[in-house]
Amino acid sequence: MITPGSTIGILGGGQLGRMMAMAAAQLGYHVIGYSPPGDNVAAEVCHDFFEKGWGDKEALAAFAAKCEVVTWEFENVPLSAVAVIPQSLLAPHPRALETAQDRLKEKRFVEGLGGKPAPYMAVDSESDLAAAVDRIGPPGILKTARDGYDGKGQWRIASARDADSFRFPGKPCVYEGMVEFLAEFSVILVRAHDGEVRFWDSTANVHAGGMLETSTLPAGEQIEAQVGQAREIARQTAEALNYVGVLTLEFFSTAKGPVFNEMAPRVHNSGHWTIEGAATSQFENHIRAICGLPLGSTATRFAHIEMGNIVGKDALTAHRLLGEDTGAHLHLYGKAEAREGRKMGHVTRVSGVKV
Ligand code: AMP
Repeated sequence: MITPGSTIGILGGGQLGRMMAMAAAQLGYHVIGYSPPGDNVAAEVCHDFFEKGWGDKEALAAFAAKCEVVTWEFENVPLSAVAVIPQSLLAPHPRALETAQDRLKEKRFVEGLGGKPAPYMAVDSESDLAAAVDRIGPPGILKTARDGYDGKGQWRIASARDADSFRFPGKPCVYEGMVEFLAEFSVILVRAHDGEVRFWDSTANVHAGGMLETSTLPAGEQIEAQVGQAREIARQTAEALNYVGVLTLEFFSTAKGPVFNEMAPRVHNSGHWTIEGAATSQFENHIRAICGLPLGSTATRFAHIEMGNIVGKDALTAHRLLGEDTGAHLHLYGKAEAREGRKMGHVTRVSGVKV
């Protein structure tokens, strides 16, 4: 067990790291962050922060030397950087990062465990794209296999003609058939060192332009009927990876059951509601799991919960929410610039007693 008073290292400096660091501080841990120079909003709430490149082995080793455990908040931390950190310090195990960093690997992995992704094909050239569209059919989405997030690195292909005129991005990609989903949801779980798994309730997630907009509970009958099956796949994924910490799998809810979209080996935007809405938040349970502390209850505390992302310039006036709505819990991430399409904060509204 890594007892309170010890030091936790977090790779990545974004809002997920910031909220994780706050949960760790509540339990009496010190947090040291590591991320290349940039708008590292986690740094403000960390005891110390290394603004160093992923290729700086000396800095990574110095960072690791100060920590009793090292985790990440960002799934695109290069594996070469993670390899510098002694494996005994890392939680979860880096095999989870390796799997989740590549859309093809992650689909094959979850498929191997019985999950059903949308029909897909690896695409490495314009002719591959034509072949994929021919086999799977339009409409579909071409996604870069690596480094995509929040709808970035994705192109909708409406027809074979679209595919013919498409300028291939020159990176390995995956073509996926467009899923006719009725709703979207995620399964967020926490797994302890001893293999105990707990799930939070699954919210209905609405995306706009590829980015999460809202997460709502209750999620509705359509999703509730499919959560059990999705949880089984998520549990098996966590077990197969011998995962420790919080793991997220995203699903489309379709007329034929849950379709696996992608996984994130970390805390997730669709779990922000757990800060006020659950007995123990995803951030706190991640810290508990990686430190070997007992897991906290994941029970939902309210009858109605809605988390909404605050994006771009909306953040500049978001403080007004505090005066308008007493049930609104505002989180602002302290980002320097309210750029269009940038996640700047979120607001969680809770009401009613959960029976
Ligand atoms: P992703 O980054 O892959 O999670 O995609 C972001 C969002 O784009 C998803 O949450 C969906 O709303 C939409 N999307 C992605 N892939 C598909 C698909 N194959 N079919 C339908 N919608 C999709």
